[in-house]
Amino acid sequence: MKRKPENYLSSEPKPRRWNIWIQQRKRCFYCCREIDYEDSTEDHFFPRVKGNSAENNIVVACRNCNGVKGSNSPTKFMRKKWKRIYEELT
Ligand SMILES: [Zn+2]
Repeated sequence: MKRKPENYLSSEPKPRRWNIWIQQRKRCFYCCREIDYEDSTEDHFFPRVKGNSAENNIVVACRNCNGVKGSNSPTKFMRKKWKRIYEELT
């Protein structure tokens, strides 16, 4: 019989945020910076409205981006963000 690995007890199912964080290669959805799991936050890409809590609406973002985005619509937020990056480059 195969021996159970040492970390057998810690291999319980991971929370949803963990899975999304791994899917996003441990990066913030908005600024693409690498973030620690502890510093990641769940964000609803489209602001939470009734009947809009679909799993695929959830992204992982760093605290900074989540704070800046707030309840702005994603397009408004991204436009603001890219405008700032553009200004930094020019
Ligand atoms: Zn970010």
